[in-house]
Amino acid sequence: MRSIVVVGASLAGLRAVEELRRRGYDGALTVVGDEPHLPYDRPPLSKQVLAGEWDLDRLPLTVQADGGLDGLAVDWRLATRATRLDLASRTLEVDAAGRPGTIRFDGLVIATGASPRHLPTDGLDGIHTLRTLDDCLAIRGALDAGPRRVVVVGAGFIGAEVAATCRQRGLDVTLLEALPVPMARAIGAELGSLMADVHRDHGVDVRLGVGVDRFEGGAGGRVERVHLADGTTVDADVVVVGVGVVPNTGWLEGSGLKLEDGVVCDATTLAAPGVAAAGDVARWTSARFGGPIRVEHWDNAVDMGEHAARRLLTPDDPVPYDPVPWFWSDQYDRKVQLAGFSAGAEEVRVVDGSLEERRFAAIYRRGDRVTAVLAMNRPRLVVKFRPLIERGATWAEALAAAGA
Ligand code: FAD
Repeated sequence: MRSIVVVGASLAGLRAVEELRRRGYDGALTVVGDEPHLPYDRPPLSKQVLAGEWDLDRLPLTVQADGGLDGLAVDWRLATRATRLDLASRTLEVDAAGRPGTIRFDGLVIATGASPRHLPTDGLDGIHTLRTLDDCLAIRGALDAGPRRVVVVGAGFIGAEVAATCRQRGLDVTLLEALPVPMARAIGAELGSLMADVHRDHGVDVRLGVGVDRFEGGAGGRVERVHLADGTTVDADVVVVGVGVVPNTGWLEGSGLKLEDGVVCDATTLAAPGVAAAGDVARWTSARFGGPIRVEHWDNAVDMGEHAARRLLTPDDPVPYDPVPWFWSDQYDRKVQLAGFSAGAEEVRVVDGSLEERRFAAIYRRGDRVTAVLAMNRPRLVVKFRPLIERGATWAEALAAAGA
């Protein structure tokens, strides 16, 4: 392979590039990214950066290679959007601020991540989503102006973190969630309810089981009020909408790649010969979890980016990609971590600490297996249980390990 192109200049893309060079690939490497920035870290955008605690110079992703980013010898095409993929001619069409171009490749890594879902806003100002550094700076600017009331729509992890950060900044916050229990699919009903209580403990007005009907603006075209589906209203100077993301696959329409809630890959991250996908955009077949999955976690973007790189370099060695997913979320002084898959769990058991103390570890059972561990301010328990989940340990083994 003489030329590899990575589309998406962020976490999965950068880790793929690093791995290619680490494994001795010395051909041409081009990274196409539609943001104007070199790769930076997103988790602080809802935490330290939004809180105003971190300077922006802490955000760029670092690389281990000698010479840092320069040592990777990459042709960075920033502020450049991939618009079309032609697999037959192995050509990528790109657009750099209205200037079209084409890039030829032998190998391709698709790492275009995901974008926030939007709600209809009638063009009102003051309604934000959070995915990029520029989104974060726009919200931070709005918070710096000292709004009377912030409304966060959606109590998933991003919404919950934004609500926590706004409360820590001393702002009045209403957190709206259409489901009766936040994050129930991700962490189960009991622990989802606990997360809602954590926010109430910190003075957030949490409203569950009620969707947004529409936003109302004032004379200046700025949002002033949120109308809810139950007929009530909430005043708002700033709104942050966090109602999930959709994978960025629009540019791949008509390419012949299978697109179905992401770029569909085989069990080894390949979407087509010489074309791999990684990170939030990729959906692959996991034997461990019995079907196709897509994971929107930092850790997965790192591991899958590296795996995709190795896969391109070893076409005759189809090693499956099948990790135990892991993520963390920081809200107030609580650090939540989840390893494994909690969906479809038949039992959740607290094996350390207690829900009342907001300091615990809980394990999830499906059939006779332990499938996930969730910990709040108990990181060591995640380190302990993750290998058990990895090797398919039984529930009895997990309970024995917990001393329960
Ligand atoms: P992305 O980081 O989304 O990068 C994709 C890049 O591709 C973007 O720059 C995008 O603009 C670009 N792109 C898209 N389409 C095109 C195109 N056609 N042409 C060129 N470029 C394109 N995970 C955790 O585990 N813990 C956390 O605490 C946590 N906090 C988070 C907080 C925030 C605010 C956000 C947004 C995410 C958080 N995550 C967290 C998730 C984690 O950051 C993501 O899983 C990770 O960034 C995914 O990396 P990626 O490289 O796959 O995609």
